[in-house]
Amino acid sequence: MTAVARVDTAAFARNVERLVARAAPSEVMLAVKADAYGHGMLDLAPVALAAGASSLAVLEISAALALRSAGIPNRLFAWLHGADSDFASAIEADIDLGVSSGRELQAITAAAAQLGRPARVHLKIDTGLRRNGALPEDWPALVTAAASAAAASRVVIEGIWSHLADASVEDDLAAIGVFETALAQAAALGVVPPLRHLAASSAGWREPRARYDVVRFGIAAYGVSPFDDLTAADMGLEAVMTLRTTVAPDAAPDGQCWIAAGYADGVPLAAHGASVLIDGRRCAVDRVEVDRTLVAIADPVDEGSPVIVFGDPTTGAPTAAEWAGWASTIGDEIITGAGARARREVV
Ligand SMILES: *Cc1c(COP(=O)(O)O)cnc(C)c1O
Repeated sequence: MTAVARVDTAAFARNVERLVARAAPSEVMLAVKADAYGHGMLDLAPVALAAGASSLAVLEISAALALRSAGIPNRLFAWLHGADSDFASAIEADIDLGVSSGRELQAITAAAAQLGRPARVHLKIDTGLRRNGALPEDWPALVTAAASAAAASRVVIEGIWSHLADASVEDDLAAIGVFETALAQAAALGVVPPLRHLAASSAGWREPRARYDVVRFGIAAYGVSPFDDLTAADMGLEAVMTLRTTVAPDAAPDGQCWIAAGYADGVPLAAHGASVLIDGRRCAVDRVEVDRTLVAIADPVDEGSPVIVFGDPTTGAPTAAEWAGWASTIGDEIITGAGARARREVV
């Protein structure tokens, strides 16, 4: 057996239900970007909706179109646009579009004019992340332009939104202040859309004031905590992905064995202090190669013995969050990397 990233859809559904309950009465837009953080977007999207999410968020229009083609009728939100973004197809497929600048708005209204059909847009204010979104000084002009496009039936303004940096509670509160100002300015210009959304997993979990109408949960639904001081288990969330393999037949020095998963399967190469679970026992990782990893063992193990690289902590296995600590990265990268590289098995 080579490495397998097993995706537990029942655990994912329970996580989504938990987040839906946490956010209520706000709705949940579930982020399924990056192929659902490596878990398989088309597999998990219907599960998220059945578990109570009301809409889905992706990065690019192309991913939203794939969801629509797969028959998903719910609101689909795409916000990362480039020179090659196909706004016309997005409008025809009723995709909600994030709008960060007057230039984006112009490109979208031009496509809407050609089709003779309005685009559904969510105007983005930059509340401090400086990744995209209109800067506060450019916000009134963007709102004014969107209002006149709405009057001309080129757009329907569905939302006003922003994204938080997931830094500290103080940063969240400062961003909420900027967001409130932007909402008030828009209202003064006559723009009061039905959906206001700001929070992702971190603020959506801990800060009720950031929830507004919709919380865009991502990483938490995949069973990885967005916090350093709170584990997924503390939050009542279950691991969704398990990266498993077996003890390889390759000869290893005394006191060591090879397992049949390496960095090509998503095992982080540069991790310090990492371990895996072999036969139910934690064993220290010595060296990661492309398709195998050398592990220290206290007692001899049989070829073919089961190995969990990360997964459900109740089995004693390390979590994706532990690997993130060992590899100085975030859990998102661990699961997204493994899910994209290892053979995926959705159960
Ligand atoms: C990824 C993303 C989310 C989800 O973020 P998490 O921290 O994974 O919960 C929400 N909103 C936007 C715009 C995103 O890009």
